[in-house]
Amino acid sequence: MRWFQNVPALLLALSTSLVCSSVADDPVLSVIVYTGVAPDTLVRAEVDGSRILERAGVRLEWRNCRSDDPCPIPVSLVHVSVRIVNYTGRDGLGCSSVTRAGGTDAVVGFENVQRLAAVSGMPASQILAGVLAHEIGHLMLGPLHTGSGLMHGNWDVHDLERLGQRQLKFDPGQSTRIQAAVLARCRPRAPEDRSLVAFAPHRH
Ligand SMILES: [Zn+2]
Repeated sequence: MRWFQNVPALLLALSTSLVCSSVADDPVLSVIVYTGVAPDTLVRAEVDGSRILERAGVRLEWRNCRSDDPCPIPVSLVHVSVRIVNYTGRDGLGCSSVTRAGGTDAVVGFENVQRLAAVSGMPASQILAGVLAHEIGHLMLGPLHTGSGLMHGNWDVHDLERLGQRQLKFDPGQSTRIQAAVLARCRPRAPEDRSLVAFAPHRH
């Protein structure tokens, strides 16, 4: 498709905070979002993002904070954070700071989300939902990328079509690992070296 071929290189930086209130076999992940994105767009994205994670067996609890607010988080709360900014200075849609065991922080570049929405004709909220789910996937799975699907490191037109059809999802193996990772967040773990994983769904 021409619009796909013409999509410029996109750069996304994501910063995500997850709050874990899971008990037993009920994986619940709290995501603290720092953003200035319009509330209606953000809420739609979070609804769609929750749907993607629900299909992976994890329930999300969103906490929205304005970028310029302190938004205090209880010390006892196990959490991760996503920071949605206009421009990240990077070539892509998002990135997460992760180890092989995952991470707690990601950044999304909303300007690039809007650019992709404009060329694809998809709502920005729907693309934002997919990007949020992708980065949350990194925070739970580590620097995993697959050849296609939600964890594809460079979304193509087929991935976007599936996103538009709400069929872009984690595979069964990823879903099982995400559930386990969320439950594991309730247990302390040793610190590890971190690396940065960039996500450029439309780099051409
Ligand atoms: Zn990625």
